[in-house]
Amino acid sequence: MMTRRLRLIAALLAGLGAMTDARAADYPITPQAVAPDSWAVIADTGYFTPQNGGFLVNTAFIATTEGVVVIGSGPSRAFGEQYRRVIERTAGKPVRELVITHKHPDHFLGNQAFRDVPIRAEEKTTAMLRNEAEGLAENLYRLVGDRMQGTEPLLPNAPLTPGVREIGGHQLEFIAVPGHTQSDIAVFDHTSGVLYAIDQVFNGRTPTLPNASLPEWFAALDRLEALPFKTLVPGHGAVTHDAAPIRATRRYLQWLDATLKEAARRGLTPTEVMALPIPADFAGWAEARAEWRRSVGFLYARYELAELPALAAPDQPTD
Ligand SMILES: [Zn+2]
Repeated sequence: MMTRRLRLIAALLAGLGAMTDARAADYPITPQAVAPDSWAVIADTGYFTPQNGGFLVNTAFIATTEGVVVIGSGPSRAFGEQYRRVIERTAGKPVRELVITHKHPDHFLGNQAFRDVPIRAEEKTTAMLRNEAEGLAENLYRLVGDRMQGTEPLLPNAPLTPGVREIGGHQLEFIAVPGHTQSDIAVFDHTSGVLYAIDQVFNGRTPTLPNASLPEWFAALDRLEALPFKTLVPGHGAVTHDAAPIRATRRYLQWLDATLKEAARRGLTPTEVMALPIPADFAGWAEARAEWRRSVGFLYARYELAELPALAAPDQPTD
């Protein structure tokens, strides 16, 4: 169901679309083999723009003997439809199910192209999307524009339970690793050794923290690093064969946490915090300054609150 506001934005875009052919442009979807029967699609690492059509999220798919398991559907209906054609051509078999790892819009707004198969998500993710999906979609319409045409949030329709499932010759473990949001799933394919860490791990791209809980995120990174994976597919940035991006994501979050704490202790204003220097280790990552500013906006008030002296408890009567 689209809200009236989303319908209005969509109608407006349909009008604009008639005047431009940007919407006809295909997304540059090029699957990269990461193991036998396993592919990742590595995206641009920028921010949402009309030029990239919102394609800045990595997706992946595994061709089992019982059909293809897809991880993430991308940022728009147009992306989802093109992606599904690419998947079935590459894998040579039909899609059997789609896994939505968390609630961020670039990971689920392609769902319409998979409406005939189970679209799985953890219960908490689906519950949050029930309330938030329209707003998240509206925001992408504003940022990306034309190529969002026809996109409506389609909610997951099947459960995703953490644990190991044997699917068509692949032993897939769905691991609950919240922290990037309130509910995140990583997929570890024990058969191929590929860890699809998705947005718990960023590689060369500054992490996004609108819904982050840092203590949980640190625990998630420890858990992922301990897995015996051979190949790592992050949510944003290039595939690797080591844990370097897990460690780099941890170092960034540690720096962010310590810097916000210290800034609150010194009583800096949000504007002053946004202007603080970014260490050389992270300054070259895509969107370094912009994401830092956004993170200060999302998180700094919590740190300021923690610095307030505890309110003195009123004296208790002693008799
Ligand atoms: Zn995310």
